Amino acid sequence: MSVVGIDLGNLQSVIAVARNRGIDVICNEVSNRATPSLVSFGGRQRYLGEAAKTQEISNYKNTVGSLKRLAGRTVSDPDVQEYEKKFIAGDLVDVDGQVGVKVSYLDEAQTFSNIQLIAMYLSKLKDITAHEIAGPVSDCVITVPGWFTEIQRRAVLSAAEIAGLNCLRLVNDLTAAALGYGITKTDLPEDKPRNVAFVDVGHSDYSVSVASFVKGQLTVRGTAYDKHFGGRDFDNVIVEHLAAEFKEKFKIDVYTNQKALIRLRVAAERCKKVLSANPQAPVNIESIMDDRDVQTIVNRTDFEEWASHLFTRTEDTLKKAMEVAGLTVADIDAVEMVGGSTRIPAIKTTISNFFGKPISTTLNQDEAVARGAALQCAMLSPVFKVRDFRVNDICTYPIKLEWTKSPEDDDTEIVVFDNNNNIPSTKMLTFYRSEPFTLEAKYANPADLPRGINPWLGQYTIKDVKPTANGDPAQVKVKVRLNIHGIFSVEGAHTVEEKVVEEEVTNKDGEKETKKTKKLVKTGDLKVVSGTTSVPHTVIDQYAEKESQMVASDKLIMATEAAKNSLEEYGYDMRDKIMGPLSDYIDPGIKDKFAEDLNTVVDWIYDEGDDQPKSVYVEKLDSLKVIGTPVVERYREAEERPRAANSLMETI
Ligand code: ATP
Ligand code: MG
Repeated sequence: MSVVGIDLGNLQSVIAVARNRGIDVICNEVSNRATPSLVSFGGRQRYLGEAAKTQEISNYKNTVGSLKRLAGRTVSDPDVQEYEKKFIAGDLVDVDGQVGVKVSYLDEAQTFSNIQLIAMYLSKLKDITAHEIAGPVSDCVITVPGWFTEIQRRAVLSAAEIAGLNCLRLVNDLTAAALGYGITKTDLPEDKPRNVAFVDVGHSDYSVSVASFVKGQLTVRGTAYDKHFGGRDFDNVIVEHLAAEFKEKFKIDVYTNQKALIRLRVAAERCKKVLSANPQAPVNIESIMDDRDVQTIVNRTDFEEWASHLFTRTEDTLKKAMEVAGLTVADIDAVEMVGGSTRIPAIKTTISNFFGKPISTTLNQDEAVARGAALQCAMLSPVFKVRDFRVNDICTYPIKLEWTKSPEDDDTEIVVFDNNNNIPSTKMLTFYRSEPFTLEAKYANPADLPRGINPWLGQYTIKDVKPTANGDPAQVKVKVRLNIHGIFSVEGAHTVEEKVVEEEVTNKDGEKETKKTKKLVKTGDLKVVSGTTSVPHTVIDQYAEKESQMVASDKLIMATEAAKNSLEEYGYDMRDKIMGPLSDYIDPGIKDKFAEDLNTVVDWIYDEGDDQPKSVYVEKLDSLKVIGTPVVERYREAEERPRAANSLMETI
């Protein structure tokens, strides 16, 4: 059974697995430790991860990134229209009530919802993992930003399901990092907690989480997020300035040419990275548009000035996290950073100055989140034994329940899970009712949610409620749950009645006696009918079927390509050898004909043989081998004969 942690990043994702008593980050097919979070569509097949990255510019219209930013969103969300649209070249469209992208795939316009796009990408990550661990992959833990709402979390879970992954937990990015920190520290205090601030500045968002550690457990004290703040915003600052500069200097407007803009964005990211280690960075883009080459030099001081508003914002989120955690900077014992953008020197300095201490470097900033997720998976998996360590994470957004007032009620709503409530947790609520009633779950503070996310979480009707035998309203217990993924549900409902029961107790003289006591006794289960934000299962099934068709079609394309390559290679190789080393081992009567056949095949591949079904390549190769294989065998035998004779001599 697999024990896998996936840090689903906006730019790239990292996979870690638990094996050999440790956690390893695994490499993809081109030996990178992170895989680009991109999917791309072509005339014949899909390209996922690294393969999509290589077409990011040439096939930009059909290459989709920002996958996790689209999770659970609708096309009209202001966040999607104002931010994500800038980073996706294809048209954003509605697919089954969710945001999706229109692309050209197999030479036709096709649309895919965000759940489908994430599923494609996750199935690629699954393949990479299966290849590396040489076995099937199913159980995993996937990380999401702590600010993800229920509908976003459900989208990732549905995508995982379509990809054939069994997600044991969706864990908040920084909680995973904190777990990795805590479980490896052998010097955690017994009583007075050690407070650690974790800061993640990634590609698209920025999170701060303050956690308290004592021996054997961590408790998240408070979190704060800037949902639109990360490396891509810094890239954008450079893009804006360089676009203006190129307009003036070279008289070109990159904003009128999508491909030029994408190329400038790629160059801006490179420039930003160079500036993290150098005071200056050159930018050269050949033939960016209208046959113009552009070149310039960016100074780190310029960049810091251009991005000064972003550095100020860095501090706001730190302050907010401290406020929510109810701690002061003096209470913080250590600061740990993760995420690629914490390499920007001014970000590092801002964070370090804020806390008035140097940044600790216990964690690997690129891999800590994935490693933590793999550890969490190991803890949840029955096949792995991990040192006991409790993770007390908290709910990000308070959740309330609403109902229609009945005479027995004082209120019409209650906050069931506040924003410092543990995840997971369950609560029992009591209602007095004579007939069925409905509860509605909502996020209590809609203003805190990502823009465009509907605060509505679900509607739950408690059926079969009747008055008691003496006509009073029934006492109904409703069990609500915030599950391990941070998703709300009404688990069940039942009626209770106060009854006199006889109990055997031991009195103070040590004798047994029967005592009558009043107790609440469960009198019956009630049916709960729920409606939630989850995508209907019929839709998920359709997606799953489409995904497996696409996987099969991609596999066939790849197998066909491989068969064609083998035929081509054999053709070239034999053509040379038949005239060279194999020349004496082929019947002279068929030699010329065979050489001619090999030539014909090689020419055919470049002509009408370029695009044929796999079976055609396989058949052609097989028929060539009917002649070729015996020749090769005769050659081998002849080669081995003297060697065999030699070794015989030696033994004598
Ligand atoms: P997110 O966490 O937002 O979903 P992610 O996990 O994919 O995204 P990371 O891999 O943590 O993001 O970070 C990627 C970002 O870090 C990119 O914007 C990248 O340009 C930036 N980055 C990487 N190396 C450097 C560097 N040396 N200097 C500046 N920025 C860097
Ligand atoms: Mg990240």
